[in-house]
Amino acid sequence: MTTSVDRVFAAGTGVRTAGTERAAALDAADALASYGQRFLPSQDTTLRAYLDGNSLGRPPAETAAAMDAFIRRDWGSRLIQGWTDAWMDWPTTVGDDLAAAALGGAPGQTLVADSTSVLIYKLARAALTTVPGRTEIVLDSDNFPTDRYLLEGIAVELGLTLVWVESDPAGGLEVDQLDGVLSERTALLLASHVAYRSGFVADVQAINERVHAVGGRVLWDLSHSVGSVPVELDAWGVDFAVGCGYKYLNGGPGAPAFGYVAAGLQAIARQPIQGWMGHATPFTMGPGYEAHAGIRAFLTGTPPILGMVPLRVGIALVAEAGIGAIRTKSLALTDFALELVDAQLVPLGVEVASPREHARRGGHVTIRRADFADVNRQLWAGGVIGDFRAPDGIRLGLAPLSTSFAEVAVAVDAIEMLLTA
Ligand SMILES: *Cc1c(COP(=O)(O)O)cnc(C)c1O
Repeated sequence: MTTSVDRVFAAGTGVRTAGTERAAALDAADALASYGQRFLPSQDTTLRAYLDGNSLGRPPAETAAAMDAFIRRDWGSRLIQGWTDAWMDWPTTVGDDLAAAALGGAPGQTLVADSTSVLIYKLARAALTTVPGRTEIVLDSDNFPTDRYLLEGIAVELGLTLVWVESDPAGGLEVDQLDGVLSERTALLLASHVAYRSGFVADVQAINERVHAVGGRVLWDLSHSVGSVPVELDAWGVDFAVGCGYKYLNGGPGAPAFGYVAAGLQAIARQPIQGWMGHATPFTMGPGYEAHAGIRAFLTGTPPILGMVPLRVGIALVAEAGIGAIRTKSLALTDFALELVDAQLVPLGVEVASPREHARRGGHVTIRRADFADVNRQLWAGGVIGDFRAPDGIRLGLAPLSTSFAEVAVAVDAIEMLLTA
């Protein structure tokens, strides 16, 4: 079937050449270009550009071999001995590896387990146990749905009040929006480091300071920053954080998530789903729950070991490339996307709905126009895969290890040609 994208590429336009040539020069000069070869090529020959690595990262080639070796050698040969060989420690050792590679966290504070949603629930409830008597949870209206829904549920469970801050969908939660919002009633603030819609980067340290000044806690969602934007959890004075394993960490669909609990809070924070794996001595199997010391207390049941195999490969890739080099390429990719959008799409009525300032810009760029739902359907049909975000946004997700500048040019050209066809 010939799609509209096929037709517009076949017809061609003059504009296309300029972006394509610039992309070729940028790809040739890209210090991380070789990482593109470290990912499995898509077997879908109709794929032209993948700009959704911020929603589901591509599989590293090494992941296929690592899974096969794990199944045959570790699981298949060691069988249940695998638990005492290594798996019991994976939630914390893989967590420490991630913290060293991408979170700026000292060992002993990061755990790999559960899904992001479940960990948000566990750590939000745990945070609330450290500030008894306080009644308000602060959150912003444009945070990712699961974050908002989970706290709505917690507020009902515990009889707390949600205090909503209206954040700009094309920006994000600004520090001065907390003026007059925080008080001695504030128990917890939940926010995303990088906004899922606009890519806005929040000022984590400044927000922590404001909330700490009134005695509250902060839980940060790092889903859209981990592996793309540098994070300094210890230096920024973060209390609690969670994040996703299948976006820029390339852990695969449904990869386990991670949670961070600052060392100083581990002894006083009690998480609500106390299962045997978080017990001080799980194999005693005795009466009564007694929390394990340290970060293991935040485990619940048997950790998803199989899901950690690809995640370990993804974390190792980030460690090898270096988060500083990853951020440099990320900014170069979004600079290039904005340059092409300004030149080719803004004249056609497209608006940029992401911050332009480097310090506030994450790894993706969102653009909007009234007919983008339809445009995105045509893009998908033609193998140009971005993300539609209602009501009218197309999110160009640029994963620094796997996205080429050429893909950015292809996507912007395709949108331009669809809008002018
Ligand atoms: C992707 C994402 C999640 C994902 O939650 P799951 O439990 O994995 O579905 C949560 N929060 C944010 C901000 C995200 O971007």
